[in-house]
Amino acid sequence: MAPTHRSLPGLYLHVPFCSAICPYCDFAVLRAGGAIRARFADRLIAEVAIAAASWPDPRPFDTVYFGGGTPSLLPPGDLARVLAACADRLPLASPAPWVFLEANPEDVTPGACAAWRRLGVRTLSLGVQSFDDDALRFLGRRHTGRQARTAVETAQAAGFDTVSVDLIFGLPGQTAAAWRRDLEVAVGLSPGHLSCYQLTIHPRTVFGVRAARGQLVELPDTEQAALFDLTHRFLADAGWPAYEVSNFASSPEHRSRHNRKYWDHTPYLGLGPSAHSFALVPASAHAGRADAGGASARGHRWWNERHLRVWEQYVVAGKRPVAGEELLGPPALASETLLLGLRTTAGVDLDAFAARYGIDLLETNHALVTRLVRAGRLQVREDPQGQRLAPTVRGLAVADSLAAAFDLPLPT
Ligand code: SF4
Repeated sequence: MAPTHRSLPGLYLHVPFCSAICPYCDFAVLRAGGAIRARFADRLIAEVAIAAASWPDPRPFDTVYFGGGTPSLLPPGDLARVLAACADRLPLASPAPWVFLEANPEDVTPGACAAWRRLGVRTLSLGVQSFDDDALRFLGRRHTGRQARTAVETAQAAGFDTVSVDLIFGLPGQTAAAWRRDLEVAVGLSPGHLSCYQLTIHPRTVFGVRAARGQLVELPDTEQAALFDLTHRFLADAGWPAYEVSNFASSPEHRSRHNRKYWDHTPYLGLGPSAHSFALVPASAHAGRADAGGASARGHRWWNERHLRVWEQYVVAGKRPVAGEELLGPPALASETLLLGLRTTAGVDLDAFAARYGIDLLETNHALVTRLVRAGRLQVREDPQGQRLAPTVRGLAVADSLAAAFDLPLPT
């Protein structure tokens, strides 16, 4: 039996369709006609059966996340069929897992919300991106600021446990005043959860091409940093403190039960084009002593074919549509634990890290930690459960480079 993790696994289902492709998006997405979309649910159901035969963790999935793409483009009947297949073939938590659905504002109507609620959706995550019509036009979105506000209110009236709003900041030429207005509208609507992502220009996107031609000039780093700082301070003051570098919740119960699995090596199964999966497996040399904390475990990560047609061919042939995989030994797991932990306000549990990897971070990186604490980037915090190494807001802004500076000597 595979080693386990204290949290139950999560299930991710990728729906790759969008009604238009946003010029900044580098996800595995496409526009497709009705026939292709109609057969997608059947293909996904086929992959559920294929994956069920090889998924190594027998524990129930306590979250199911429909992401994309735009899952709200799939008819509720198709979503229901996929969920029923998951319940049939995979162990789902009883009485029901927590179901997440990503939706675009233009798809949110009282009727659609009622249908999603009947499916058991508890968190509706809305791709708002901005409430400002000029920003929305620049981002290539199809909704207006007014539609976005109406969508949030409609979702709230429908009674989802959590309504989450995604926003993007750091647009070329964006001022602090303009971004603050977006934040003010967002908190004025009182969603339980907010995600604020910094605009990234990816090379193989429309924005990437425009940037390479000099037709789009990114916001300078100093202004990006100022907007990041504004985001965290404004939302903390308004009652939406960060719990991760891009995620904010009005109270702990609105924090994402699913995404946190990605941050602490909880196993997750991803189905659909491009979806990633992660499981803990016993280290071959220690196969007999795998334990609940995974101290002797290795990580196994794999990812699906990105192109819909290729993914479909595998699934139709009854084969796993896996495009690549990697085995993560203790050095890689330790490095990821530090990297992902320093992107959260909870930080890294120092005792657990030492127990799992045999590395005392404070001792092995004493000079670095002292310097970063003095610089106001890190703090060593005493929690009831033990000592934690956590980033400050200034540290969160550079979380990835903080983690990269650590030396992680493997015990001999
Ligand atoms: S709606 Fe979201 S997933 Fe679809 S193209 Fe736009 S950013 Fe990408």
